[in-house]
Amino acid sequence: MSDHNDVDFLGLSADLSQEERTVQAEARAFVDEQVLPIIEEHFLEGSFPTHLIPEMGKRGYLGAILDGYGCRPLSGVSYGLMNQELERGDSAIRSFSSVQTGLVMFPIFTFGTEEQKKQWLPELASGRAVGCFGLTEPDFGSNPGGMVTAATIDGNDYVLNGKKRWATNGSIANVAVIWAKLDGDVRGFLVEKDTPGFKPSKIVNKFSLRASVSSEIELDQVRIPKRNLLPGTEVGLRAPLLCLNQARYGIAWGAVGAARGCYEEALAYTKKRVQFTRPLAGHQLIQHKLVEMLTDVTQGQLLCLRLGRMKDAGTLKHYHISMAKRTNVRNALSAARMTRDMLGARGICTDSHCARHLCNLETVSTYEGTHDIHTLILGEHITGLNAFS
Ligand SMILES: Cc1cc2nc3c(=O)[nH]c(=O)nc-3n(C[C@H](O)[C@H](O)[C@H](O)COP(=O)(O)OP(=O)(O)OC[C@H]3O[C@@H](n4cnc5c(N)ncnc54)[C@H](O)[C@@H]3O)c2cc1C
Repeated sequence: MSDHNDVDFLGLSADLSQEERTVQAEARAFVDEQVLPIIEEHFLEGSFPTHLIPEMGKRGYLGAILDGYGCRPLSGVSYGLMNQELERGDSAIRSFSSVQTGLVMFPIFTFGTEEQKKQWLPELASGRAVGCFGLTEPDFGSNPGGMVTAATIDGNDYVLNGKKRWATNGSIANVAVIWAKLDGDVRGFLVEKDTPGFKPSKIVNKFSLRASVSSEIELDQVRIPKRNLLPGTEVGLRAPLLCLNQARYGIAWGAVGAARGCYEEALAYTKKRVQFTRPLAGHQLIQHKLVEMLTDVTQGQLLCLRLGRMKDAGTLKHYHISMAKRTNVRNALSAARMTRDMLGARGICTDSHCARHLCNLETVSTYEGTHDIHTLILGEHITGLNAFS
């Protein structure tokens, strides 16, 4: 078990199709060759490596759950494996792909008109355009249904007013999917950058997900034509929640990738570093931590593979995704903390991966439904009782 190719304790790769193995190998090479060498610099600078966007488009990493319009349709398992590899590199890279795919392309594909799909999907799939998703507001995070951003009708236009916060890619987006209340119902609208009154600004004071662009968006009398409404969003809040399901599915897999990256780093380091006459890996307490990590990674891999097969069979439900997002992110945080500990002082430096993963995973635990919100989703499912409010 000396490198990441071997972190497959139960031999699950034997259960993968040739296509699934190929997708994973390609994404693994992309991360090793193009992400890991530059990510520390971007994390420190607080910038997204935008030069990777066209490359991600070329490789089919944007919109890979959709069919047509320039997308590379992958099976649920292949898409998951791709996310796992991307997040082994950095949560920011997986977040970019998740937002573009699950939160921007998916709603346009699912709720949009043919004209909207033709205009945006090929651009977003190739990486020529970037999208963002504005649901969260300064006063409404876990409870997005309370949002105050509103759309009103004025002649042939809609006029949007309000404020969104934490939109990933907001300041670099060509198009924003903005959720706003129209006559009290939550609806989705497409807002193009440079529309007067659309004012994104980058949030700069983050410890976490530093290589991802997070933005606040002010909407001040933003006038858009009526054709920019996503017509299928008449299902209300269910529409953004369906988008979140797509992204949460990718997170469940991605978290296993971050945990795997930490496990590989801990194993390699503790086998080399000698303290008290032997490599650290030869001490019982260190072995205990390595075993805990490998067990968590393996359980996460098993859970994800089952999730992926259910997605491909059409039997996956939102509460299954909640269990996987919640558990895998918690375990990844634990793996990152243990690795940070096992690397000693080295573990707090930016040239080791674990502290970057640890900081990033604090966001991953919070966004797309916090750990506790997923507890409440599962709690409601098993008891039939809503404990949210
Ligand atoms: C880096 C980053 C990127 C993001 N990207 C996006 C994006 O692209 N688009 C977007 O729309 N949003 C995005 N978000 C926002 C994210 O989805 C929210 O932060 C998340 O939904 C939590 O909302 P909140 O931060 O307002 O926390 P709150 O909702 O205020 O929650 C605070 C705490 O209270 C707990 N809590 C809340 N309700 C309950 C309850 N009923 N019972 C018990 N405990 C409860 C929570 O679990 C949490 O621990 C992003 C966030 C971050 C940090």
